[in-house]
Amino acid sequence: MEVSSNHKAGFVSIIGKPNVGKSTLMNTLVGEKLSIVTSKAQTTRHRIMGIINDPEYQIVYSDTPGIIKPAYELQQSMMNFVTYSLEDADLILFVTDLYDPLEEEVINKLKKVDCPVFLVINKIDILNPETIDAKIAEVEEIVKPTITYRVSALAKQNTDDLLNAIVETLPIHPPYYPKDELTDKPERFFAAEIVREKILLNYKKEIPYSTEVVVEEFKEKEDIIKIRAIIYCERNSQKGILIGHQGEMLKKTGTMARLELEKFFDKKVFLETHIKVEPDWRSKAAQLRRFGYDLE
Ligand code: GDP
Ligand code: MG
Repeated sequence: MEVSSNHKAGFVSIIGKPNVGKSTLMNTLVGEKLSIVTSKAQTTRHRIMGIINDPEYQIVYSDTPGIIKPAYELQQSMMNFVTYSLEDADLILFVTDLYDPLEEEVINKLKKVDCPVFLVINKIDILNPETIDAKIAEVEEIVKPTITYRVSALAKQNTDDLLNAIVETLPIHPPYYPKDELTDKPERFFAAEIVREKILLNYKKEIPYSTEVVVEEFKEKEDIIKIRAIIYCERNSQKGILIGHQGEMLKKTGTMARLELEKFFDKKVFLETHIKVEPDWRSKAAQLRRFGYDLE
């Protein structure tokens, strides 16, 4: 891909409380332009999830974990991601759906940044236009954004305008990452995310929060990708639930993951899943590091 002399590049952090639509927004913004998806958790301080490459610009998005009051070490580590991604951002998209009151956690983080902040009111497809004006004014008073956008990440309303504004705001800078390269690491990471997503879909209560997926093997051959994923959980009882009666649940989860992986990589996938018990992995720093969470 050719790089223009006025090339713009920068880091855009998407922050906000859980469930406001941050991931959906990132997916919509990245859309079909997605050229690499990568997690730099081990190597840099950014949690990079999506990059848009265009001859004129490169936008590096971090879709951060939702801002919450940390209750245990894993959450503390997740909040560190948020803090880092704010420190180095060229632009922050603060996303809210106006359902919950703003929390101190969010405001305090935003007070410390000195880059532009876009207030993104998401889910306008289900918000009542007459009643939200006052609420938006209230939020603007607290957040003091550079500008406010009303969008629907899901219905792709106004998201093109938002994308144009993002590009406008980015500094002139050469690309931070290769414009067309795909490495093995992000593929592994993405494979793990897809398996994790199917666990979230198929299991209830504490199971999704007690599991972590690590892709131990990712071998791409001419006609097939062989993936070996380890699902870590904390207790034997959880292992039992994950496997399910006669292995049915794990089989179902594995099949769903494989189909999604085949769609994503556009290739036949052989997926092997193993479950390992690792007591209290959430509280164990060494364990967390192995899983790629960044601890200070
Ligand atoms: P995150 O936790 O902030 O990353 O939120 P997600 O992107 O996972 O979205 C949470 C839920 O909100 C999902 O069920 C989405 O489908 C839904 N959602 C996201 N954006 C919109 C939107 O613009 N309109 C509507 N109606 N729902 C949305
Ligand atoms: Mg999310």
